[in-house]
Amino acid sequence: MIDLHLHSRASDGTLSSAELVSLAAARGVRLMSLTDHDCLDGTAEAAAACDAAGIRFLPGVEVSVSWDRKTLHIVGVDIDPQHAGLQAGLTRLQAVRDARALEIGRRLEKHGISGAHAGALALAGEARLTRTHFARFLHQTGHVKDEAQAYRRFLGRGKPGHVSAEWAGLEECIGWIHAAGGQAVLAHPLRYGFTRAWLVKALTAFKQAGGDAMEVVSGRSSPDDVAVSAHLAKRFELLGSVGSDFHAPSPYLQPGVQTPLPDGVQPVWERFRDRN
Ligand code: AMP
Ligand code: MN
Ligand code: MN
Ligand code: MN
Repeated sequence: MIDLHLHSRASDGTLSSAELVSLAAARGVRLMSLTDHDCLDGTAEAAAACDAAGIRFLPGVEVSVSWDRKTLHIVGVDIDPQHAGLQAGLTRLQAVRDARALEIGRRLEKHGISGAHAGALALAGEARLTRTHFARFLHQTGHVKDEAQAYRRFLGRGKPGHVSAEWAGLEECIGWIHAAGGQAVLAHPLRYGFTRAWLVKALTAFKQAGGDAMEVVSGRSSPDDVAVSAHLAKRFELLGSVGSDFHAPSPYLQPGVQTPLPDGVQPVWERFRDRN
């Protein structure tokens, strides 16, 4: 079993990378990548844990990209985590995250919710701040009934605590990933809430910018989602990837993707460099 999209406590997952690897190993994962948001902090620990567990590990990252005033997530997999250009780019995105988080806190404050920035920071601990930490704060302080409601009421587009950010450019991000030796994968293409026309526009831009692959099997994709994604991968001549986008243990989603890539979609892992 393969999983090329996983989160740890270095960004908005709830498990340490060692705990994540144990869980993935127990589930039968044989090849995995850790893909935290704009962050490589969990890489060394995950690599060591995979070594010990006998799992093949590929360093990865999920990069936030601004494209046509929308946010896309591009997973870079099989990257060199020491690459200076990639590291500099991610450092810049973390500064954008920190400034955005302060502004989210201010907006929520004006909206009558006090202490959100400090609360999110405390929940994050050593992790890089994400909206997930604000969602957890809003949930734990009783402002919302669950984290999904935090996005619907406060943190989603057009809501009082939403702050748009200038993330990496699409070509810029793919440039970092390629310079670091990796493959650029468009994450969860069906989860942006785009119409079919916008999705085609995004895939066209991604392919033109040098993108290599797209997730064909993602988190909770239905058989229909997989069929639609496989069709798009073939149409845009993109390789196929599989990833759970696992953040936290739940009855609905575990590390490890069971659904195989459909026939006719070339697996992105055939491109991975042989590290042995
Ligand atoms: P950020 O990159 O800081 O804007 O945070 C994005 C993260 O928030 C995503 O990777 C998800 O983990 C989480 N997220 C965004 N929207 C939702 C949602 N509607 N429900 C649950 N989690 C969400
Ligand atoms: Mn996330
Ligand atoms: Mn994502
Ligand atoms: Mn993700």
